[in-house]
Parts: sequence; C-alpha cells; structure tokens
Amino acid sequence: MIHEILPVGPLQCNCSIIGDQTTREAMVIDPGDDINDILSVIRKHNLQVKQIVITHAHIDHVGGAMKLRSATGAPILLNQNDYALLKMLDAQAAWIGVASPGKVEIDHSVTTGELVTAGSHTATILHTPGHTEGSICLYFPAEQKLIAGDTLFAGSIGRTDLPGGSMQKILHSLHDTVLALPDETVVVPGHGPLTTIGDERATNPFLVKR
Ligand SMILES: [Zn+2]
Repeated sequence: MIHEILPVGPLQCNCSIIGDQTTREAMVIDPGDDINDILSVIRKHNLQVKQIVITHAHIDHVGGAMKLRSATGAPILLNQNDYALLKMLDAQAAWIGVASPGKVEIDHSVTTGELVTAGSHTATILHTPGHTEGSICLYFPAEQKLIAGDTLFAGSIGRTDLPGGSMQKILHSLHDTVLALPDETVVVPGHGPLTTIGDERATNPFLVKR
C-alpha cells in the first residue's frame, strides 16, 4: 500500500494519499489545502485518484476538495449529516482568518458499513458523530489502519464546542465504535502524530473506562 501523509494548510490537517502499487488507483482523504503539493505526490507515484473522501466538513479538511476534483475528476464523498456545516464554509473561513474556498459540491453521502476502495485496498466507513454530526472514520481491516479525522488524536479527542459538536456523542462514538477496533490498529488522526488504538485505550485521559 502506498500511504503518504501530508500536513496541509495553516492548521496542518493530515491529508492521506492512499494508492495501490499494482493498479495505481488511489483515494485522497481530507485535501484541506495545498492541492499542488497533493498533486505532486500523486504524480510522483503515478496514481489515478478515484475517490476524494472528507472525514468532516470543517474547512481545514474540505477546503481543497473542489480543486482536487477539477484536477482528477474523482467524486467527493461526505456523510450527509455534515451538509449543513458545509453550507457554513464562509463563516468557518472567517473564524480562522482564511479565504473562503467557495461552494463545495458533494457527489455521494457515505455512512457506516459502506466500502470505499483504492484498487485492492478497501476501507469500511464508520459514522462517528460528536466532533461534528457527520464525522466519519475510515477503517482498513487488512492493513489494520484507521483514518480518524478529528474524532481521535494522540492523547486527546476532537473538540465538541463548534456547531454540531456533542461531547456525549463523541464519547459514545469512541467507546462503542473506535475502541471496538483491535489494539494493533494504527491511527492516523486529523492533526498531529500517529498513534495506535492500544496506546489510546491505555493512556488517553478521555478514554479511561467509564
Ligand atoms: Zn474538525
């Protein structure tokens, strides 16, 4: 599996580029910004982007999606519970003091149980509301890898004080969905360093057993 993680934009969102070494098919997760850098990685590996997956509709994760769609022709996937947040991109841009990316069009909604593929690599979608209503994680069972968006960080969890956020829901998502994964699972959070489910289960102060 080709997996490049590129921190993009002023908030350094972890954009994942995942490709199949044989078929060269790829998916890009959370192309928040710096689309030229993302396209260089895609060209370097000679990949063809088939899916653009957005873990949630915060501007630092979705801001570059339309540019990437124009460059690759790949559809943009987002859970429909975040469509309302997506309509607030101008307000979100004002919060963090960046230019608005304009309107983002979603091609398909994705939710729990649906599969997203890049060649032979398959991710199961897990709907994990709490950071936002439509937050999702992507779980690659064969590779034991979780792309967690802003639901789980190394030593912390996503903030719940923005519109659509809920502490009760994120704790429910973490305990019932995310911690159900095996300890060996490598977690790629939406920001910051990688971790594992086992490390977070043992040491994350938000995840000590209720
Ligand atoms: Zn976020």
